[in-house]
Amino acid sequence: MSKRSLRDLPAAALDGKRALVRVDFNVPLKDGSVADDTRLRAALPTITYLREKGARVVLLSHLGRPKGGPDPKYSLRQVTRDLERLLGAPVEFIPDPAAGVPSTRRLPRGGVALVENTRFWPGEEDNDPALARVFAALGDFYVNDAFGSAHRAHASTEAVAHLLKPAVAGFLMEKELTYLGDALAHPKRPFVAVLGGAKISGKIDVIEALLPRVDEILIGGAMACTFLVAMGLPVGTSLVEPDRVALAKALLAKSGPKLILPRGAVIAPSLPRAAEHREVPVDQIPDGWAVYDIDAATRHDFRARLLRAKTIVWNGPMGVFETPPFDAGTRAVADALVAARGKGAVTIVGGGDSAAAVAGLEDKLTHVSTGGGASLEFLEGKVLPGVAALEDA
Ligand code: ADP
Ligand code: MG
Repeated sequence: MSKRSLRDLPAAALDGKRALVRVDFNVPLKDGSVADDTRLRAALPTITYLREKGARVVLLSHLGRPKGGPDPKYSLRQVTRDLERLLGAPVEFIPDPAAGVPSTRRLPRGGVALVENTRFWPGEEDNDPALARVFAALGDFYVNDAFGSAHRAHASTEAVAHLLKPAVAGFLMEKELTYLGDALAHPKRPFVAVLGGAKISGKIDVIEALLPRVDEILIGGAMACTFLVAMGLPVGTSLVEPDRVALAKALLAKSGPKLILPRGAVIAPSLPRAAEHREVPVDQIPDGWAVYDIDAATRHDFRARLLRAKTIVWNGPMGVFETPPFDAGTRAVADALVAARGKGAVTIVGGGDSAAAVAGLEDKLTHVSTGGGASLEFLEGKVLPGVAALEDA
C-alpha cells in the first residue's frame, strides 16, 4: 500500500511546474461562506510545501452533490475568500476547466488557482477519461490529497492519475495511509477497536474485517441494541435494525469473547424527555423506553480496557452525543483515548460524527481521519481507487 509521496519528488520536478492538486474542499457552507474550515486547513501542508518549492498550484475539488450541472449553491467560488485568508495570498478562480489552461500558465511561481466544482461537469462521477484529459491539461504533474474522496473512482481522483505523471500522494493522503495502514498491518497489542453509531448495517464489513485482527471490539451506540436483541433481550423503543438481528447473532457466535457489549444503558422515554433519563442494566430495559447512551458501569469497563490497549481504532459515537446528557459515553471514550495516548498507545479516530465528537482533542490523539466513508472502507480492507491509481513508492 506504500505510495510515492510528494516528498519524494526532486526540487527540479516542482520548481516552476504546475501542480494539479486534488483536494477535499467539500466543506459545510452557511449563507454563502465556509461554516467549518477544517478541510481547508488540512490541505495547507501540501499547498504550502508546493508554493515554497516554486510550483504553481492548481486546486481541484468537488463540493456537495450538484445534480449533473453548474449550480451556484455548490460553487467553489464561495470557498475562495476563506482559502485566501488561510494562505495569506490571492487565489485565482477558474470557472471553467476546459478554458482554464491559459490561467494556469499565467500563474506566478508559488501562485494558487482554484478550479470550479468537479461535479459541475458531466463525466466526473463516471470516471470519464475525456473529462480527465481536461483536468490533466491544467497541470504538469498530479498530487492527490483528497483521502476523503479516494474511495470513489471519479475523473478527478482516478482517471486523471493515469494521464498525468508523476501522480503522487499529498501529505494529508500520506498521513492517512500511514496511520490507518500501519495500525491495521502492524498493530501494537493489545489492539482494541471501539465501534458505535446509529446503524450496524453500515459497519458490518468493518466489524468483519477487524474481528480477526483485533484483540477486542467494544460496541456502543444504537448498534449495540441490535446485538442485545440478538441475545434475546428486550430493548424497548431503541433504534434497532430488525433485518440485521440474524447477522448480529452470527457475529456473536463467531466472535467469542472478543465482542464486548455494554453492561447497562442510559435510557429515556424519548429524546425530548431527556430530563427523565436513568440508568439500567441491559437486561432491564423497560417497554416504551429507548437506549441513548452507555451507562457509567460500561464507561468504566471500556476505559479500563482502553487503558490496557496499545493500539485503538474508534469509529462511531457511543450514544446520541448531539443531545446532552447522552454525550457522556462518547466523551468518556474520547477521554480514555487521550489517556491511553498519554501512556504510549496509538489512537486513531475515523468517521464523520466521531471526528466531530473529538473536535479540539486532535493534538492529544495520534490521528483523526478526515475521510468519513473513505476511512471506513479502508478499515474494511477495501482498495481505494484514488489511492490505487497513484504510483507505488
Ligand atoms: P460516524 O459518522 O462517526 O461513522 P455514525 O454516522 O455511524 O458515526 O453514527 C452517528 C450517529 O449515531 C449520531 O448521530 C448519533 O446520534 C447516533 N447514535 C448513537 N447512539 C445512538 C442511539 N443509542 N440511538 C440513536 N442514535 C444513536
Ligand atoms: Mg455519520
